[in-house]
Amino acid sequence: MSDIDMGAARMAATVLDGKAMAAMLRAEAQRDAKELIAKGITPGLAVALVGEDPASAVYVRNKVKACEELGIVSTMQTLPATTSETELLALIDRWNADPSIDGILVQLPVPKQIRTNALIDRIDPAKDVDGFHPHNLGLLAAGRAGLVACTPAGVMKMLAIYGKAYGWTPAGKRAVVLGRSITVGKPMAMLLTNADATVTICHSRTPDLAGHVAQADLLIAAVGQRHLVQGGWIKPGAVVIDVGIHRGDDGKLTGDVDYEAARWRAAAITPVPGGVGPMTIAQLMRNTVDACTQRRAVTNA
Ligand code: NAP
Repeated sequence: MSDIDMGAARMAATVLDGKAMAAMLRAEAQRDAKELIAKGITPGLAVALVGEDPASAVYVRNKVKACEELGIVSTMQTLPATTSETELLALIDRWNADPSIDGILVQLPVPKQIRTNALIDRIDPAKDVDGFHPHNLGLLAAGRAGLVACTPAGVMKMLAIYGKAYGWTPAGKRAVVLGRSITVGKPMAMLLTNADATVTICHSRTPDLAGHVAQADLLIAAVGQRHLVQGGWIKPGAVVIDVGIHRGDDGKLTGDVDYEAARWRAAAITPVPGGVGPMTIAQLMRNTVDACTQRRAVTNA
């Protein structure tokens, strides 16, 4: 707001409409799913939810519903919070062996008696539609094709759509990724490196976060701290992608970036809600269709 008061007459950023972009991505996935179904191959997704975390239950329901809209067959297994690691691994083994299942997803986080790495390692990498298996992360690090985590892959699709419309590319840009999780930050940094950006990864031990953000032509915020990134930190003209999701006591969703302030400095910015979130779900469908095509060696001949 102060920018306007000061008479800077800056234009507000282009809003990167994740809902509209996700609709495009879904339509493409749907077209490919239909082609598979016409060949007698129905893509299958299996989802496990352990425990009764309400937020996780909503995410899982949305994912299953979205897949079913595309004609993907979904199997959902809800397990009690007391489920042992052995029981969950046995379920994964059954799904690994089931030829009708192309994608396996276990909603994280899982209760603490289950080691997250043990379940990630157990999923057949060819069915790892979340892209968390070390095999798929290794392929990504090597710049080779594999299944890529849905959120960062969805962000790359957003950047591609924006880039096509506005003549923008991550190549040669300074990209700053806030967060180093294997679900978002690290794969995001690898994707951007593979796309020829010069990437800095920041985390909770990084001194002078604001100084790093100020250098960023492209900022990806995935820290899980509401409004950590202040509007004044943003380099004027930057592209800002806010991955964070926080639900306030009033039920409203906000992100890691102070959107209202940042949008007067950025060239383009994702809102929360309606930004990265819809792209994540659309990318899950894409990954499931791709896993099906790869696994069943479908050719277009
Ligand atoms: P996470 O596993 O908790 O990782 C958070 C990362 O942020 C860590 O690397 C952490 O550093 C870093 N961090 C935390 N506080 C920081 C600070 N004050 N300064 C600098 N770095 C800080 O979270 P995540 O799974 O990556 O998710 C991040 C956010 O994205 C969450 O809000 C989550 O809800 C959201 N999310 C959204 C979607 C979507 O579809 N839109 C999908 C996935 C996640 P350390 O490594 O040093 O601890």
